Amino acid sequence: MDATGASADLDPEEFRRLGHAVVDWIADHRAGLEALPVRADVEPGWVRERLPAALPEDPAPLDALLSVVDDVVVPASTHWQHPRFFAYFPANASLHSLLGDMLSGGLGAQGMLWSTSPAATEVEQVLLDGLATALGLDPGFTFAGGGGGSIQDSASSAALVALLAALHRAEPGWRERGVTGTERVYVTAETHSSLAKAARVAGLGARALRTVEPVPGSRAMSPQALAAAVAEDVAAGLVPVLVCPTVGTTGTGAVDPVRAIAEVARPHGVWVHVDAAWAGVAALAPEFRHLLDGVELVDSFCTDAHKWMLTAFDASLLWVREADALPAALSITPEYLRNAASESGAVVDYRDWQVPLGRRFRAFKLWTVLHGVGLSGLRAHIRGHVALAAGLAERVRADPAFELAAEPSLALVCLRVVTGAGPDADDDASRELLERVNASGEAFLTHTVVGGRYVIRVAIGAVTTGPEHVDQLWEQLRAEAERVRQRYAA
Ligand SMILES: *Cc1c(COP(=O)(O)O)cnc(C)c1O
Repeated sequence: MDATGASADLDPEEFRRLGHAVVDWIADHRAGLEALPVRADVEPGWVRERLPAALPEDPAPLDALLSVVDDVVVPASTHWQHPRFFAYFPANASLHSLLGDMLSGGLGAQGMLWSTSPAATEVEQVLLDGLATALGLDPGFTFAGGGGGSIQDSASSAALVALLAALHRAEPGWRERGVTGTERVYVTAETHSSLAKAARVAGLGARALRTVEPVPGSRAMSPQALAAAVAEDVAAGLVPVLVCPTVGTTGTGAVDPVRAIAEVARPHGVWVHVDAAWAGVAALAPEFRHLLDGVELVDSFCTDAHKWMLTAFDASLLWVREADALPAALSITPEYLRNAASESGAVVDYRDWQVPLGRRFRAFKLWTVLHGVGLSGLRAHIRGHVALAAGLAERVRADPAFELAAEPSLALVCLRVVTGAGPDADDDASRELLERVNASGEAFLTHTVVGGRYVIRVAIGAVTTGPEHVDQLWEQLRAEAERVRQRYAA
């Protein structure tokens, strides 16, 4: 309110007008996206140089801001929604999910407790129970089955809270005394860095991480090696706390043997957290459900709706088998948060399932996706991209200029250039090819290094990526390979 009593906010009628302009901007942007370079091509500082250092003292019209968006923000943005974005993993922000994000902001609720906005909690519970069933998870992960799901901001946060729950279960004195320095967390060389970060945040330090050897000739965690590591640590007086098998590693999409790992871990009370951030959503299609074999034996399971499930960042889905596991580790109740509903024990207070107190109504954007495309639409989205990846892998296999650097995993194809002049030349040629493709703005690819070898990753999965976009990429890869092979050939 200002001195005259007027609100600082927009009048709802004025919002209606400006809101339409913003929606029009988004619709035009998405419609024209394919013509833009995929990757931002600006020097550090380019954006800052173009923005006035002084903040506006007086109000300014929205039009002026939208021109800055056109002139400065768009050229300095990497377009993750571009159909030829094949880098990292996708970050689907479907227009369906944007509608839900708007409704969430429109309600403006803060759902830290059930009582601060019952709908925010219960919609989330219903959607996560339904998705557990749709993914073929064990009923023990639903609220009705004694477990439950929640929407975290990221798979990294999911791993952190799972680790905190595991610490509480392994060492009942942990909440009081903190860590002892004897805790151990089991990962592989391919495990996502978020586990190392979680160990750091939890105060365990890198010394708590034990890297388990792979099954010989693969990149998957060896259950035998895990059993030996756990036995050795127990004998040394250390406390095995958590093991993290990955379903779909970030580098190459490798899958750890969840069932065998859980069978090793359970007799020792070790918490098993499955990180299926990218690949887990594929289980919506029954033919990919084998990827989740053994998940019925684990303590927590995470997959990102914000990668390949059409839902705008941030929406990471985390299920636990024991509904009380996270609250037992995380709940702290100051007087001002006390309320009858919480004390009745009849409600879920999601603040106890996460690190922050406050939380957005994130379920809304997931809801508009599920409502707008249905499970059948999600399955078609996943299946379409897996089929495109299979087609690309076939072309790679058939072309002597390339080789597969790993077996294709769902919609991830890892490849490299073959020069005929040995591995070093192949690696250098592959690096140069990737740089040339990215510099063209026509497509965006990223790389990894596996077993010391350079690997080009093609992660298919943007919302609008179709066959023509993979065809265009392949034509470009072939043309560029011809160029670089001439330079590196023996
Ligand atoms: C992307 C990814 C993560 C991290 O995801 P965020 O949700 O961004 O934290 C963790 N694990 C795997 C396997 C991933 O692919």
